[in-house]
Amino acid sequence: MKFIFVTGGVVSSLGKGISAASIGRLLKRRGLHVFSMKLDPYLNIDPGTMSPYQHGEVFVTKDGAETDLDLGHYERIINTDLTKECSVTSGKVYQAVLDKERRGEYLGATIQIIPHITNEIKRRLFDGFNAKGNTDVCIVEIGGTVGDIESLPFFETIRQLRRELGYENTFFVHTTLVPYLPTSGEIKTKPTQHSVKELTGLGIQPDAILLRSPVYIDKATKRKVALFCNVDDDAVILVKDVDVIYEVAINLQKQKLDDLIVNHLRLECDDVAKMDDWEELIKKIKNIKKEVNIALVGKYVKLHDAYLSVYESLKYAGYFHNVKVNVKWVDSEELETLKVEEVFNDVSGIIVPGGFGSRGIEGKIRAIKYARENNIPFLGLCLGMQLSLVEIARDVLGYEDANSTEFNSDTTHKIIDYLPDQYKGIKLGGTMRLGEYDCALMEGSKALMLYGEKNIKERHRHRYEFNNEYKEDFERVGVVFSGINPKTKLCELIELKNHPFFMASQFHPEFKSRPLKPHPLFIGFVGEAVDHKPS
Ligand code: GLN
Repeated sequence: MKFIFVTGGVVSSLGKGISAASIGRLLKRRGLHVFSMKLDPYLNIDPGTMSPYQHGEVFVTKDGAETDLDLGHYERIINTDLTKECSVTSGKVYQAVLDKERRGEYLGATIQIIPHITNEIKRRLFDGFNAKGNTDVCIVEIGGTVGDIESLPFFETIRQLRRELGYENTFFVHTTLVPYLPTSGEIKTKPTQHSVKELTGLGIQPDAILLRSPVYIDKATKRKVALFCNVDDDAVILVKDVDVIYEVAINLQKQKLDDLIVNHLRLECDDVAKMDDWEELIKKIKNIKKEVNIALVGKYVKLHDAYLSVYESLKYAGYFHNVKVNVKWVDSEELETLKVEEVFNDVSGIIVPGGFGSRGIEGKIRAIKYARENNIPFLGLCLGMQLSLVEIARDVLGYEDANSTEFNSDTTHKIIDYLPDQYKGIKLGGTMRLGEYDCALMEGSKALMLYGEKNIKERHRHRYEFNNEYKEDFERVGVVFSGINPKTKLCELIELKNHPFFMASQFHPEFKSRPLKPHPLFIGFVGEAVDHKPS
């Protein structure tokens, strides 16, 4: 088993995830099978129950794990599907150990961080490596920064792994910030030196140091870092701020980081990573001249990371159509009192993404009504689909109190509801319909035209479903149920007949969009928005 461990120092939010994913892309393009993992030090079991303001979006894997948004970077940048083994939190680790203790499986031993917690972390790392059965190398990012109390067991584990697996099977990458002082025009390496000192204090000597910097760092400075941090000159790598994040991989390749890793880990693979399509994409992005404005209506718009995959998917569809997508972030709660036509007068498309809880619901419904009545291209995702049906029920079918039982369980018209027998005695964490489910697309639908194939699989993360008792009512007024789960007959995708582009899905297409392979629904939506003139 071969592992690359990526740690961070000085500050958090260094873009460790992007660097780790870029390494993954390079190795994959040298013909290797790469798996990625993230070790998160927090005590939540998974980010599923955390506020998006705490954590950003929850990324859902194919097999239904609710994970950190960095796993989304990995899937998109490396172009791979991950599995539930990819996400390890302290919460999961401690829970497993304590459950085992209660079952008496430790046979009277005193349970300790070392070896019981560290062994559990190791077991999970090995499970990750073995998850897909063909992995050549596993990239493991450790959340937080070196020196945090919470992450100590993770650092201790990877220290031990170098001894157990051997030098040639483990590679340590440490990412740090190199601040630039504009007044004196200097860059400062001292924080990096301290951070590496902290790391070596835990018994880990980095094999490569990635310097995040807003400016160019010259050879002499790199050499200084190498000297003080005890690494080879060519193991000090600059990760300069870039306009387009895909350039990170290209810049790492130019500095031969992939060669360093491949040689160290004695990986047998192609001599060079073929990155032509990536370079073409970067060139294309830099030459985009046209722009299109799209409104995203949500409750957490102050933190854009809360909608990261949706935002990325919009951008990719933009690259496909040669336009830059400008997202206008619209707070759904504020929209309840603002003049809708003024808010949307400069946009060519409206998107209502997923969400939970009643705050801002009526604002989203107003946005949907506006898009429907004014022929503005519209895409609804999960809650966006549920509310589209509620809106149509109220406004077109005349069911004034129509609602989802998530927001009003007493309503006579439960358009969106729990399935019969669904979730008896539920808990809040990990009890949703999660991960990939089948969907069959209807002949003659816009959906089928966009996807170009009848049977698709899409990822889910929700508790409530469309109530099929109302299906015929909706069909009478021009709603097409264009995607249906073939087994359960649950509604997956709807579209409107008399509208240029009004589509909404119960699933989350955003988790499957990739830079070089944008999702068909987003391609359709952005394409239609490009042709739409704002009022
Ligand atoms: N709150 C809704 C549900 O639980 C929608 C969830 C979502 O948008 N992801 O069904």
